[in-house]
Amino acid sequence: MDFDLFVIGGGSAGVRCARISAGHGARVAIAESRHWGGTCVNVGCVPKKIMVQAAEYRGAFEDARAFGWDLEVRGHDWAKLKARRDAEVARLSTLYRHLLEGAGVTLFEGHAALIDAHTVEIGGRRVTARFIVIATGGEPVRPTIPGAEHCLLSDDLFALPEKPKRVVVLGGGYIACEFAALLNGLGAEVHQLYRGPLFLRGFDRDLRDALAEEMRAEGIDLRFDADAERIERTRDGFLVVSSDGRAIEADAVFATIGRRPNVAGLGLERAGVQVSAKGAIVVDEAMRTSVPSIYALGDVTDRLNLTPVATAQGHALADTLFGGRPRRVSLENVPTAIFTIPPIGTVGLAEEEAAKRGPVDVYLARFRPLRHTITGRQRRTLMKLVVERASGRVLGAHMLGEDAPEIIQGIAIALVMGATKADFDRTIGVHPTAAEEFVTMRTRRPDPLAEAAD
Ligand code: NDP
Repeated sequence: MDFDLFVIGGGSAGVRCARISAGHGARVAIAESRHWGGTCVNVGCVPKKIMVQAAEYRGAFEDARAFGWDLEVRGHDWAKLKARRDAEVARLSTLYRHLLEGAGVTLFEGHAALIDAHTVEIGGRRVTARFIVIATGGEPVRPTIPGAEHCLLSDDLFALPEKPKRVVVLGGGYIACEFAALLNGLGAEVHQLYRGPLFLRGFDRDLRDALAEEMRAEGIDLRFDADAERIERTRDGFLVVSSDGRAIEADAVFATIGRRPNVAGLGLERAGVQVSAKGAIVVDEAMRTSVPSIYALGDVTDRLNLTPVATAQGHALADTLFGGRPRRVSLENVPTAIFTIPPIGTVGLAEEEAAKRGPVDVYLARFRPLRHTITGRQRRTLMKLVVERASGRVLGAHMLGEDAPEIIQGIAIALVMGATKADFDRTIGVHPTAAEEFVTMRTRRPDPLAEAAD
Protein backbone atom coordinates (compact mmCIF):
# COMPACT_ATOMS: atom_id res chain seq x y z
CA MET A 1 0.00 0.00 0.00
CA ASP A 2 1.20 3.52 -0.84
CA PHE A 3 -0.44 5.02 2.25
CA ASP A 4 -2.08 3.96 5.50
CA LEU A 5 -4.89 6.44 4.89
CA PHE A 6 -6.22 8.28 1.84
CA VAL A 7 -8.74 11.03 2.61
CA ILE A 8 -11.00 12.34 -0.15
CA GLY A 9 -12.08 15.88 0.71
CA GLY A 10 -10.12 18.63 2.45
CA GLY A 11 -12.93 20.16 4.50
CA SER A 12 -13.61 20.17 8.23
CA ALA A 13 -13.81 16.38 8.65
CA GLY A 14 -11.14 15.36 6.16
CA VAL A 15 -8.47 17.80 7.25
CA ARG A 16 -8.87 16.92 10.93
CA CYS A 17 -8.82 13.20 10.24
CA ALA A 18 -5.73 13.47 8.00
CA ARG A 19 -3.79 15.74 10.35
CA ILE A 20 -4.45 13.75 13.52
CA SER A 21 -3.80 10.42 11.76
CA ALA A 22 -0.44 11.74 10.53
CA GLY A 23 0.28 12.89 14.10
CA HIS A 24 -0.29 9.30 15.23
CA GLY A 25 2.41 8.22 12.79
CA ALA A 26 0.25 7.07 9.85
CA ARG A 27 1.33 7.70 6.25
CA VAL A 28 -1.51 9.91 5.02
CA ALA A 29 -2.60 11.47 1.73
CA ILE A 30 -5.50 13.84 1.14
CA ALA A 31 -7.19 15.06 -2.04
CA GLU A 32 -9.19 18.26 -2.49
CA SER A 33 -10.71 19.39 -5.76
CA ARG A 34 -11.88 22.90 -4.90
CA HIS A 35 -10.62 24.73 -1.84
CA TRP A 36 -8.74 23.66 1.27
CA GLY A 37 -10.90 24.03 4.34
CA GLY A 38 -14.06 23.08 2.42
CA THR A 39 -17.46 24.71 2.67
CA CYS A 40 -17.12 26.01 6.23
CA VAL A 41 -14.01 28.05 5.61
CA ASN A 42 -14.63 29.13 2.03
CA VAL A 43 -18.36 29.45 1.34
CA GLY A 44 -20.04 28.69 4.65
CA CYS A 45 -19.71 29.33 8.37
CA VAL A 46 -16.71 31.67 8.32
CA PRO A 47 -17.55 34.14 5.52
CA LYS A 48 -21.23 33.99 6.57
CA LYS A 49 -20.37 34.97 10.14
CA ILE A 50 -18.28 37.88 8.89
CA MET A 51 -21.28 39.06 6.84
CA VAL A 52 -23.55 38.75 9.89
CA GLN A 53 -21.08 40.72 11.98
CA ALA A 54 -21.05 43.43 9.31
CA ALA A 55 -24.85 43.46 9.32
CA GLU A 56 -25.06 43.76 13.12
CA TYR A 57 -23.38 47.16 12.97
CA ARG A 58 -26.47 48.72 11.45
CA GLY A 59 -28.46 48.10 14.62
CA ALA A 60 -25.46 48.95 16.78
CA PHE A 61 -25.13 52.38 15.12
CA GLU A 62 -28.84 53.04 15.62
CA ASP A 63 -28.65 51.93 19.25
CA ALA A 64 -25.52 53.99 19.94
CA ARG A 65 -27.44 57.21 19.46
CA ALA A 66 -29.68 56.39 22.41
CA PHE A 67 -26.55 56.06 24.52
CA GLY A 68 -25.53 59.59 23.61
CA TRP A 69 -23.26 58.98 20.63
CA ASP A 70 -23.50 61.50 17.84
CA LEU A 71 -23.00 59.43 14.70
CA GLU A 72 -23.42 60.00 11.03
CA VAL A 73 -23.44 56.76 9.04
CA ARG A 74 -23.01 57.44 5.35
CA GLY A 75 -23.51 53.92 4.08
CA HIS A 76 -21.89 50.56 3.70
CA ASP A 77 -19.06 49.64 1.32
CA TRP A 78 -19.87 46.08 0.15
CA ALA A 79 -16.68 45.85 -1.96
CA LYS A 80 -14.52 46.73 1.04
CA LEU A 81 -16.21 44.12 3.20
CA LYS A 82 -15.83 41.55 0.42
CA ALA A 83 -12.12 42.27 0.01
CA ARG A 84 -11.40 41.97 3.74
CA ARG A 85 -13.58 38.86 4.08
CA ASP A 86 -11.98 37.21 1.06
CA ALA A 87 -8.52 37.96 2.44
CA GLU A 88 -9.39 36.30 5.76
CA VAL A 89 -10.89 33.29 3.97
CA ALA A 90 -7.76 32.98 1.82
CA ARG A 91 -5.58 33.19 4.95
CA LEU A 92 -7.55 30.44 6.66
CA SER A 93 -7.61 28.22 3.59
CA THR A 94 -3.81 28.54 3.28
CA LEU A 95 -3.49 27.82 6.99
CA TYR A 96 -5.40 24.56 6.53
CA ARG A 97 -2.99 23.60 3.76
CA HIS A 98 0.01 24.45 5.90
CA LEU A 99 -1.36 22.48 8.84
CA LEU A 100 -1.57 19.41 6.61
CA GLU A 101 1.87 19.92 5.13
CA GLY A 102 3.31 20.58 8.58
CA ALA A 103 1.86 17.28 9.79
CA GLY A 104 3.59 15.46 6.91
CA VAL A 105 0.42 14.71 4.92
CA THR A 106 0.81 14.29 1.13
CA LEU A 107 -1.52 16.71 -0.67
CA PHE A 108 -3.24 16.08 -4.00
CA GLU A 109 -5.19 18.81 -5.77
CA GLY A 110 -7.88 17.38 -8.03
CA HIS A 111 -10.87 15.08 -8.14
CA ALA A 112 -10.33 11.67 -6.57
CA ALA A 113 -12.50 8.64 -7.30
CA LEU A 114 -12.62 5.14 -5.89
CA ILE A 115 -11.45 2.27 -8.05
CA ASP A 116 -11.86 -0.45 -5.44
CA ALA A 117 -11.78 -0.99 -1.68
CA HIS A 118 -8.15 0.15 -1.42
CA THR A 119 -7.50 2.17 -4.58
CA VAL A 120 -8.15 5.77 -5.52
CA GLU A 121 -7.53 7.42 -8.86
CA ILE A 122 -6.52 11.05 -9.01
CA GLY A 123 -5.16 12.96 -12.01
CA GLY A 124 -4.69 9.72 -13.95
CA ARG A 125 -2.62 8.23 -11.13
CA ARG A 126 -3.65 5.24 -9.01
CA VAL A 127 -2.84 5.31 -5.31
CA THR A 128 -3.45 2.54 -2.80
CA ALA A 129 -4.23 2.83 0.90
CA ARG A 130 -5.11 0.55 3.78
CA PHE A 131 -8.03 2.80 4.71
CA ILE A 132 -9.95 5.34 2.65
CA VAL A 133 -12.05 8.13 4.15
CA ILE A 134 -14.70 9.95 2.15
CA ALA A 135 -15.34 13.43 3.49
CA THR A 136 -16.63 15.29 0.47
CA GLY A 137 -19.36 17.27 2.25
CA GLY A 138 -22.51 18.53 0.59
CA GLU A 139 -23.67 20.86 -2.12
CA PRO A 140 -26.62 23.24 -2.36
CA VAL A 141 -29.82 21.97 -3.93
CA ARG A 142 -31.37 23.93 -6.81
CA PRO A 143 -35.19 23.99 -6.96
CA THR A 144 -36.97 22.41 -9.90
CA ILE A 145 -39.54 25.17 -10.52
CA PRO A 146 -39.68 27.03 -13.85
CA GLY A 147 -36.99 29.70 -13.89
CA ALA A 148 -34.88 27.96 -11.21
CA GLU A 149 -31.80 28.65 -13.32
CA HIS A 150 -32.14 32.31 -12.30
CA CYS A 151 -31.60 31.46 -8.64
CA LEU A 152 -28.38 32.08 -6.81
CA LEU A 153 -27.19 29.32 -4.47
CA SER A 154 -25.57 29.92 -1.10
CA ASP A 155 -22.01 29.81 -2.52
CA ASP A 156 -22.90 32.69 -4.84
CA LEU A 157 -23.45 35.16 -2.00
CA PHE A 158 -19.73 35.35 -1.48
CA ALA A 159 -18.96 36.13 -5.11
CA LEU A 160 -21.44 39.01 -5.50
CA PRO A 161 -19.47 42.16 -6.36
CA GLU A 162 -22.18 44.45 -4.99
CA LYS A 163 -25.14 44.33 -2.67
CA PRO A 164 -28.42 43.35 -4.32
CA LYS A 165 -31.01 45.96 -3.37
CA ARG A 166 -34.10 43.71 -3.46
CA VAL A 167 -33.72 40.09 -2.47
CA VAL A 168 -36.00 37.07 -2.28
CA VAL A 169 -34.78 34.21 -0.09
CA LEU A 170 -36.44 30.84 -0.62
CA GLY A 171 -36.51 28.34 2.25
CA GLY A 172 -36.91 28.22 6.00
CA GLY A 173 -33.78 26.49 7.26
CA TYR A 174 -30.52 27.70 8.78
CA ILE A 175 -29.14 29.21 5.60
CA ALA A 176 -32.35 30.93 4.50
CA CYS A 177 -32.79 32.61 7.89
CA GLU A 178 -29.17 33.66 8.16
CA PHE A 179 -29.09 35.04 4.62
CA ALA A 180 -32.33 36.96 5.14
CA ALA A 181 -30.97 38.43 8.37
CA LEU A 182 -27.58 39.46 7.05
CA LEU A 183 -28.84 40.91 3.78
CA ASN A 184 -31.52 42.85 5.65
CA GLY A 185 -28.93 44.11 8.11
CA LEU A 186 -26.74 45.27 5.26
CA GLY A 187 -29.62 47.33 3.92
CA ALA A 188 -31.30 45.16 1.28
CA GLU A 189 -35.08 44.85 1.02
CA VAL A 190 -35.61 41.19 1.94
CA HIS A 191 -38.55 38.87 1.31
CA GLN A 192 -38.26 35.37 2.74
CA LEU A 193 -40.68 32.73 1.48
CA TYR A 194 -41.19 29.46 3.30
CA ARG A 195 -43.49 26.71 2.06
CA GLY A 196 -44.77 25.59 5.49
CA PRO A 197 -46.74 27.29 8.27
CA LEU A 198 -43.65 28.14 10.36
CA PHE A 199 -39.97 28.04 9.48
CA LEU A 200 -37.10 26.13 11.19
CA ARG A 201 -38.94 22.85 11.38
CA GLY A 202 -37.47 20.66 14.13
CA PHE A 203 -36.42 23.54 16.39
CA ASP A 204 -38.29 24.42 19.57
CA ARG A 205 -41.65 25.99 18.75
CA ASP A 206 -41.24 28.97 21.09
CA LEU A 207 -37.88 29.78 19.47
CA ARG A 208 -39.40 29.63 16.00
CA ASP A 209 -42.32 31.87 16.91
CA ALA A 210 -40.10 34.37 18.67
CA LEU A 211 -37.56 34.49 15.83
CA ALA A 212 -40.31 35.14 13.29
CA GLU A 213 -41.48 38.05 15.42
CA GLU A 214 -37.96 39.47 15.74
CA MET A 215 -37.14 39.11 12.05
CA ARG A 216 -40.33 40.92 11.13
CA ALA A 217 -39.52 43.66 13.63
CA GLU A 218 -36.14 44.02 11.90
CA GLY A 219 -37.98 44.74 8.66
CA ILE A 220 -37.90 41.39 6.85
CA ASP A 221 -41.00 40.51 4.83
CA LEU A 222 -41.37 36.97 6.16
CA ARG A 223 -44.04 34.89 4.44
CA PHE A 224 -45.16 31.45 5.50
CA ASP A 225 -47.25 29.03 3.46
CA ALA A 226 -45.68 30.73 0.47
CA ASP A 227 -43.71 28.68 -2.01
CA ALA A 228 -42.12 30.09 -5.14
CA GLU A 229 -43.97 28.73 -8.17
CA ARG A 230 -41.87 30.27 -10.90
CA ILE A 231 -39.20 32.84 -11.48
CA GLU A 232 -39.22 35.10 -14.50
CA ARG A 233 -36.52 37.33 -15.88
CA THR A 234 -37.61 40.95 -16.20
CA ARG A 235 -35.96 43.99 -17.77
CA ASP A 236 -34.22 44.99 -14.56
CA GLY A 237 -34.21 41.83 -12.47
CA PHE A 238 -36.50 38.93 -11.64
CA LEU A 239 -40.10 38.33 -10.72
CA VAL A 240 -40.85 35.64 -8.15
CA VAL A 241 -44.41 34.36 -8.38
CA SER A 242 -45.40 32.64 -5.17
CA SER A 243 -48.19 30.30 -4.11
CA ASP A 244 -49.74 32.98 -1.87
CA GLY A 245 -50.64 34.88 -5.02
CA ARG A 246 -47.90 37.48 -4.85
CA ALA A 247 -45.34 38.51 -7.42
CA ILE A 248 -42.20 40.00 -5.93
CA GLU A 249 -39.61 41.94 -7.91
CA ALA A 250 -36.02 41.26 -6.98
CA ASP A 251 -32.43 41.82 -8.07
CA ALA A 252 -31.39 38.47 -6.63
CA VAL A 253 -33.22 35.28 -5.69
CA PHE A 254 -31.42 32.95 -3.30
CA ALA A 255 -32.52 29.33 -3.31
CA THR A 256 -31.53 28.08 0.13
CA ILE A 257 -33.67 24.98 0.28
CA GLY A 258 -31.18 22.49 1.64
CA ARG A 259 -28.01 20.69 0.74
CA ARG A 260 -27.35 17.19 -0.53
CA PRO A 261 -24.40 14.86 -0.08
CA ASN A 262 -21.62 15.46 -2.57
CA VAL A 263 -21.11 12.00 -4.07
CA ALA A 264 -21.03 12.66 -7.82
CA GLY A 265 -18.17 10.98 -9.66
CA LEU A 266 -16.76 9.29 -6.54
CA GLY A 267 -17.00 5.78 -7.98
CA LEU A 268 -19.04 4.58 -4.99
CA GLU A 269 -20.85 1.91 -6.97
CA ARG A 270 -17.64 0.60 -8.45
CA ALA A 271 -16.16 0.14 -4.99
CA GLY A 272 -19.43 -1.21 -3.55
CA VAL A 273 -20.12 1.66 -1.14
CA GLN A 274 -23.81 1.76 -0.26
CA VAL A 275 -25.78 5.01 -0.38
CA SER A 276 -29.22 5.86 1.05
CA ALA A 277 -32.26 6.85 -1.02
CA LYS A 278 -31.25 10.49 -0.45
CA GLY A 279 -27.75 9.83 -1.78
CA ALA A 280 -25.98 9.90 1.60
CA ILE A 281 -23.22 7.39 2.28
CA VAL A 282 -24.52 4.82 4.74
CA VAL A 283 -22.26 4.35 7.77
CA ASP A 284 -22.44 2.46 11.06
CA GLU A 285 -21.75 3.95 14.50
CA ALA A 286 -18.01 3.74 13.81
CA MET A 287 -18.47 5.72 10.55
CA ARG A 288 -17.61 2.62 8.53
CA THR A 289 -19.33 2.18 5.17
CA SER A 290 -20.54 -1.07 3.64
CA VAL A 291 -16.93 -1.63 2.53
CA PRO A 292 -14.84 -2.40 5.65
CA SER A 293 -11.75 -0.44 4.55
CA ILE A 294 -13.75 2.66 3.60
CA TYR A 295 -15.13 5.21 6.08
CA ALA A 296 -17.21 8.33 5.55
CA LEU A 297 -17.43 11.47 7.71
CA GLY A 298 -19.37 14.70 7.95
CA ASP A 299 -22.10 16.02 5.64
CA VAL A 300 -21.65 13.30 3.02
CA THR A 301 -23.25 10.95 5.57
CA ASP A 302 -26.13 13.45 6.11
CA ARG A 303 -26.54 12.90 9.84
CA LEU A 304 -26.07 16.12 11.77
CA ASN A 305 -24.58 18.48 9.23
CA LEU A 306 -22.52 20.78 11.40
CA THR A 307 -18.82 21.58 11.15
CA PRO A 308 -17.93 20.79 14.78
CA VAL A 309 -19.61 17.39 14.43
CA ALA A 310 -17.58 16.69 11.29
CA THR A 311 -14.27 17.70 12.91
CA ALA A 312 -15.08 15.64 16.01
CA GLN A 313 -15.83 12.62 13.81
CA GLY A 314 -12.57 13.12 11.91
CA HIS A 315 -10.61 13.29 15.14
CA ALA A 316 -12.35 10.27 16.65
CA LEU A 317 -11.72 8.17 13.56
CA ALA A 318 -8.02 9.10 13.50
CA ASP A 319 -7.72 8.14 17.18
CA THR A 320 -9.59 4.90 16.49
CA LEU A 321 -7.61 3.81 13.45
CA PHE A 322 -4.13 4.97 14.39
CA GLY A 323 -4.09 6.27 17.97
CA GLY A 324 -5.04 3.09 19.82
CA ARG A 325 -8.00 4.96 21.36
CA PRO A 326 -11.21 3.74 19.74
CA ARG A 327 -14.05 6.20 20.30
CA ARG A 328 -17.28 7.45 18.80
CA VAL A 329 -18.92 10.84 18.66
CA SER A 330 -22.27 11.19 20.37
CA LEU A 331 -24.89 13.13 18.43
CA GLU A 332 -26.82 13.89 21.61
CA ASN A 333 -26.72 17.36 23.15
CA VAL A 334 -24.90 18.91 20.20
CA PRO A 335 -25.27 22.67 20.62
CA THR A 336 -25.99 24.74 17.56
CA ALA A 337 -26.60 28.34 16.60
CA ILE A 338 -28.50 30.18 13.93
CA PHE A 339 -26.75 33.44 13.24
CA THR A 340 -29.79 35.56 12.65
CA ILE A 341 -30.21 39.03 14.15
CA PRO A 342 -30.78 38.39 17.03
CA PRO A 343 -29.30 34.88 16.98
CA ILE A 344 -30.50 31.54 18.31
CA GLY A 345 -28.45 29.21 20.49
CA THR A 346 -29.88 25.84 21.33
CA VAL A 347 -28.86 22.51 22.83
CA GLY A 348 -30.74 19.33 23.60
CA LEU A 349 -34.36 18.55 22.96
CA ALA A 350 -37.09 20.88 21.77
CA GLU A 351 -40.09 20.86 24.11
CA GLU A 352 -42.21 18.96 21.56
CA GLU A 353 -39.57 16.25 21.22
CA ALA A 354 -38.95 15.98 24.97
CA ALA A 355 -42.69 15.73 25.72
CA LYS A 356 -42.91 12.66 23.51
CA ARG A 357 -40.55 10.86 25.91
CA GLY A 358 -42.47 11.68 29.08
CA PRO A 359 -43.76 14.50 31.26
CA VAL A 360 -41.67 17.68 31.23
CA ASP A 361 -41.65 20.99 33.03
CA VAL A 362 -40.89 24.07 31.01
CA TYR A 363 -39.24 27.19 32.38
CA LEU A 364 -39.60 30.18 30.16
CA ALA A 365 -38.41 33.76 30.38
CA ARG A 366 -39.07 36.52 27.88
CA PHE A 367 -37.71 39.92 28.70
CA ARG A 368 -36.38 43.11 27.22
CA PRO A 369 -32.59 43.18 27.62
CA LEU A 370 -31.18 46.06 29.69
CA ARG A 371 -29.56 47.61 26.60
CA HIS A 372 -32.91 47.99 24.92
CA THR A 373 -34.55 49.64 27.89
CA ILE A 374 -32.23 52.48 26.86
CA THR A 375 -32.44 52.16 23.08
CA GLY A 376 -36.18 51.57 23.00
CA ARG A 377 -35.66 48.85 20.39
CA GLN A 378 -38.55 46.40 20.44
CA ARG A 379 -36.41 43.32 20.97
CA ARG A 380 -37.07 40.64 23.54
CA THR A 381 -34.83 37.83 24.61
CA LEU A 382 -36.30 34.36 25.03
CA MET A 383 -34.79 31.74 27.31
CA LYS A 384 -36.21 28.34 27.94
CA LEU A 385 -35.35 25.19 29.83
CA VAL A 386 -37.08 21.88 29.20
CA VAL A 387 -36.81 19.65 32.25
CA GLU A 388 -37.65 15.98 32.62
CA ARG A 389 -40.19 15.89 35.45
CA ALA A 390 -39.21 12.49 36.83
CA SER A 391 -35.47 13.13 37.15
CA GLY A 392 -35.21 16.92 37.12
CA ARG A 393 -32.67 16.58 34.32
CA VAL A 394 -32.44 19.47 31.88
CA LEU A 395 -33.16 18.00 28.47
CA GLY A 396 -33.10 21.19 26.43
CA ALA A 397 -31.86 24.76 26.75
CA HIS A 398 -32.91 27.30 24.18
CA MET A 399 -32.23 30.98 23.71
CA LEU A 400 -33.06 33.67 21.22
CA GLY A 401 -31.25 36.90 21.91
CA GLU A 402 -27.97 38.73 21.73
CA ASP A 403 -24.99 36.49 22.57
CA ALA A 404 -27.17 33.35 22.55
CA PRO A 405 -24.57 31.24 20.66
CA GLU A 406 -21.83 32.24 23.14
CA ILE A 407 -24.04 31.51 26.15
CA ILE A 408 -25.36 28.19 24.89
CA GLN A 409 -21.85 26.82 24.41
CA GLY A 410 -21.33 26.96 28.19
CA ILE A 411 -24.79 25.62 28.97
CA ALA A 412 -24.09 22.69 26.63
CA ILE A 413 -21.35 21.45 28.95
CA ALA A 414 -23.89 21.23 31.76
CA LEU A 415 -26.31 19.26 29.58
CA VAL A 416 -23.60 16.88 28.39
CA MET A 417 -22.78 16.27 32.08
CA GLY A 418 -26.43 15.51 32.82
CA ALA A 419 -27.17 18.61 34.91
CA THR A 420 -30.52 18.87 36.65
CA LYS A 421 -32.65 21.97 37.20
CA ALA A 422 -31.46 21.86 40.83
CA ASP A 423 -27.86 22.12 39.56
CA PHE A 424 -28.81 25.18 37.53
CA ASP A 425 -30.58 26.64 40.59
CA ARG A 426 -27.58 26.29 42.90
CA THR A 427 -25.34 28.05 40.39
CA ILE A 428 -24.83 31.73 41.17
CA GLY A 429 -25.59 34.13 38.33
CA VAL A 430 -23.27 36.69 36.76
CA HIS A 431 -24.94 40.03 37.25
CA PRO A 432 -26.15 41.95 35.32
CA THR A 433 -26.29 39.66 32.30
CA ALA A 434 -28.95 37.96 30.25
CA ALA A 435 -27.19 34.65 30.86
CA GLU A 436 -27.98 34.74 34.59
CA GLU A 437 -31.61 34.13 33.71
CA PHE A 438 -30.65 30.52 32.98
CA VAL A 439 -29.82 30.00 36.68
CA THR A 440 -32.63 32.08 38.15
CA MET A 441 -35.62 30.88 36.15
CA ARG A 442 -38.55 30.23 38.43
CA THR A 443 -41.46 30.58 36.05
CA ARG A 444 -42.62 27.10 35.26
CA ARG A 445 -44.93 26.61 32.38
CA PRO A 446 -46.93 23.44 32.90
CA ASP A 447 -46.55 20.72 30.35
CA PRO A 448 -49.48 21.16 27.95
CA LEU A 449 -49.77 17.41 27.42
CA ALA A 450 -50.06 16.78 31.16
CA GLU A 451 -52.56 19.63 31.40
CA ALA A 452 -54.69 18.02 28.74
CA ALA A 453 -54.54 14.70 30.60
CA ASP A 454 -55.57 16.26 33.95
P1 NDP B 1 -32.05 23.00 5.92
O1 NDP B 1 -32.23 21.56 5.71
O2 NDP B 1 -31.74 23.53 7.27
O3 NDP B 1 -33.34 23.78 5.42
C1 NDP B 1 -33.87 23.60 4.15
C2 NDP B 1 -35.11 24.46 4.05
O4 NDP B 1 -35.58 24.47 2.70
C3 NDP B 1 -36.25 23.96 4.91
O5 NDP B 1 -36.94 25.06 5.40
C4 NDP B 1 -37.09 23.16 3.91
O6 NDP B 1 -38.45 23.12 4.24
C5 NDP B 1 -36.92 23.97 2.66
N1 NDP B 1 -37.08 23.19 1.44
C6 NDP B 1 -36.57 21.98 1.17
N2 NDP B 1 -36.91 21.58 -0.06
C7 NDP B 1 -37.68 22.55 -0.58
C8 NDP B 1 -38.33 22.73 -1.82
N3 NDP B 1 -38.28 21.83 -2.78
N4 NDP B 1 -39.04 23.87 -2.01
C9 NDP B 1 -39.11 24.80 -1.04
N5 NDP B 1 -38.50 24.69 0.14
C10 NDP B 1 -37.79 23.59 0.37
O7 NDP B 1 -30.95 23.40 4.87
P2 NDP B 1 -30.01 24.65 4.72
O8 NDP B 1 -29.72 24.72 3.27
O9 NDP B 1 -30.57 25.86 5.38
O10 NDP B 1 -28.73 24.21 5.51
C11 NDP B 1 -28.06 23.00 5.19
C12 NDP B 1 -27.35 22.47 6.38
O11 NDP B 1 -26.22 23.27 6.65
C13 NDP B 1 -28.19 22.48 7.64
O12 NDP B 1 -28.80 21.24 7.84
C14 NDP B 1 -27.23 22.81 8.73
O13 NDP B 1 -26.92 21.61 9.38
C15 NDP B 1 -26.02 23.38 8.03
N6 NDP B 1 -25.84 24.78 8.41
C16 NDP B 1 -25.53 25.12 9.68
C17 NDP B 1 -25.40 26.44 10.04
C18 NDP B 1 -25.08 26.79 11.44
O14 NDP B 1 -24.63 25.94 12.19
N7 NDP B 1 -25.30 28.05 11.85
C19 NDP B 1 -25.58 27.50 9.07
C20 NDP B 1 -25.92 27.05 7.77
C21 NDP B 1 -26.05 25.74 7.47
P3 NDP B 1 -39.11 21.97 5.14
O15 NDP B 1 -38.67 22.20 6.53
O16 NDP B 1 -40.57 22.20 4.93
O17 NDP B 1 -38.64 20.67 4.58
